[in-house]
Amino acid sequence: MSFTKFEDINENISWHDITPGGEVYEGGTSRYFKTGEWRSMIPTFIAEKCKQCLLCVPVCPDSAIPVKDQKRLDFDFDHCKGCGVCYKVCPFGAIEFGVEEK
Ligand code: SF4
Ligand code: SF4
Repeated sequence: MSFTKFEDINENISWHDITPGGEVYEGGTSRYFKTGEWRSMIPTFIAEKCKQCLLCVPVCPDSAIPVKDQKRLDFDFDHCKGCGVCYKVCPFGAIEFGVEEK
């Protein structure tokens, strides 16, 4: 059986290049896919209200809140799917949430 190696996958592959049944043969491949395009709702980071408690970071199911030097940065919108969990957990109103206009 032939299939495209994940290191060769990019956003422009056609349907006949994907694996049978869309099976995933290895982990660590999410960086190849901009799944944030599925999003209909979107969070907004209000940096001036953020206390850097980092409560929002581990609850994100898509690891879409980057952290550098122990501080959260703006959202990774290539992968945020707009679930709103981060908005629900932020105790300081530093995340707004609403319909994304495209
Ligand atoms: S939960 Fe709110 S205050 Fe805490 S790091 Fe996240 S955005 Fe900032
Ligand atoms: S809306 Fe959901 S996917 Fe997007 S950053 Fe917040 S928790 Fe993560």
